[in-house]
Amino acid sequence: SLTRMCSIEPCSLLQQSNYDCIIIVGDNPLHLGQNLSAFSKTIQHYCAKNCSIMSPKSTTFVPCSESVAPAGRLVFAHTGPLNRDFDDSRSLYDAAQRGIELAISAGSRSPLLCRAWLGSLPSDQWSMDLNNLDRCIALGALQAVYCPLEVREATGNRNAALVGRLGYLVNQEDDATAALVAQRFNFIRALESGRQLARDIGGSDPERMSPGRIADRLASEFGVVSNGPVVMEIEESIKPEKYPLMAAVDRGSVERHRGKVVHLTYEGELNSRADAADRSHVTLLLAGKGVTFDSGGLSLKTGGSMVGMHRDKCGAAAVAGLFSLLAQLRPPNLTARCSLGLVRNSIGSGSYSPDEVIVSRAGRRVRVVNTDAEGRMILADLLCLQRERALELAEPSRARLFTVATLTGHAVLAYGQGYSIAMDNGPARRLGVAAKLQAAGDLIADPFEISTVRREDWDFVRSSGPYEELLQCNPQPSAATPRGHQFPAAFLAAASGLDKHGTDSKIPLSYTHIDNAGSAGRMKSTPPTASPLLAVAMRYVLPRLSRCL
Ligand SMILES: [Zn+2]
Repeated sequence: SLTRMCSIEPCSLLQQSNYDCIIIVGDNPLHLGQNLSAFSKTIQHYCAKNCSIMSPKSTTFVPCSESVAPAGRLVFAHTGPLNRDFDDSRSLYDAAQRGIELAISAGSRSPLLCRAWLGSLPSDQWSMDLNNLDRCIALGALQAVYCPLEVREATGNRNAALVGRLGYLVNQEDDATAALVAQRFNFIRALESGRQLARDIGGSDPERMSPGRIADRLASEFGVVSNGPVVMEIEESIKPEKYPLMAAVDRGSVERHRGKVVHLTYEGELNSRADAADRSHVTLLLAGKGVTFDSGGLSLKTGGSMVGMHRDKCGAAAVAGLFSLLAQLRPPNLTARCSLGLVRNSIGSGSYSPDEVIVSRAGRRVRVVNTDAEGRMILADLLCLQRERALELAEPSRARLFTVATLTGHAVLAYGQGYSIAMDNGPARRLGVAAKLQAAGDLIADPFEISTVRREDWDFVRSSGPYEELLQCNPQPSAATPRGHQFPAAFLAAASGLDKHGTDSKIPLSYTHIDNAGSAGRMKSTPPTASPLLAVAMRYVLPRLSRCL
């Protein structure tokens, strides 16, 4: 099958003959540690002739004989120092990614990754647990190994010329049992399998991943069976009476690009022995933006800014990836439901236009100002549905509502590439939802910035005119608007009716908006990152698996 690629397997030094390259990730080529002493001499000799291997963040191919490293290939990927104020877990992730890229370009097809002894490790949370280090290295390597779905399909090869086998050296002094090592790698493989699904959906072009074809891919992933770990439900068309704002965005598309809504449900077993707060039962209710192509609609994107807009589905893609992970790991004490709005923002005679006033699912009169702000139209109705689902729960206080979307260019302007942004409402802030996500992301090279929705954001979307209650947007692009990534969160809360569930209300509901426009990956030709999938998995899935993982 072309849907799954090679993953990573634990291995001991004795098995190195199964591989054709050794990649050492370390912070000092002259101190590799006991485990890798077999390579010390070779690297020291090389270093005496070419000291560029010592430069922080360099990646070096060290020529050696086949008696030292299999196929005579040895790569040293320098992490740089790890203990400065601004160093974080990405130093390991990036070094592994660079190491694999160099190994592949040298002809390796089955590299073996090794973590050197890291002398500059600080005693921070992320570096205290060696599992965190191994996860970051493994996931950085797996990002480099990913081959786009379209290439796999065009060549008929699931690994299309990248690598066929990827190993990870398990340190022998580590007293972990074989069973525990297997469980740890099972977790990494599940993370990667979720990321693969997310990258396939998010990265493929707007025809290969049109709304209908995304739904097909999800159906083959989860099966339309009622007794699988994840139950899938598809709405084949977007009904205006159910989703008035989302249906407006869908109006301009031809039949081939018609929108769909996919709902996924995961219900983990209840484990009443769960003691710690991080292990007690929660229900995640997520809405994902899956805009397969964003032309801007009639408020047309001009000046070449339409290029890359097939990546506007990376919110929905990351959420779908999370459910793939849940299906494999089946964590207890967790219920998760999501609704993915798969819609194209097209230009046609039926397109929705500025000036239209549409009543949202929550009954709010919304004035369309800029049709390029289509993501919030899609999410407001889906967030309203999550709100209804939360209110049906026996304990709505255990619900955690999220919207996940590549929503604004302003997110990238404000924090740059590589950061997801989390914005809590009042109840979520009391629970520390964004802060805990940020802490979890820091452990796994998936960093977050926290933004705050303020009174100016609410003022900005409130209309003073008699026709409408809410303004969907302003006419300018978000990147030309002050607080351009914060005010959409106020709109989402208001248009979905969540503003009635603040800390001052009878039934407070925790809601966090995640803008992953900056973290989903550059909208050019590099594969998507699947961010914020890793951070969400570290926050909500890992604590519910075996304690010793
Ligand atoms: Zn747009």
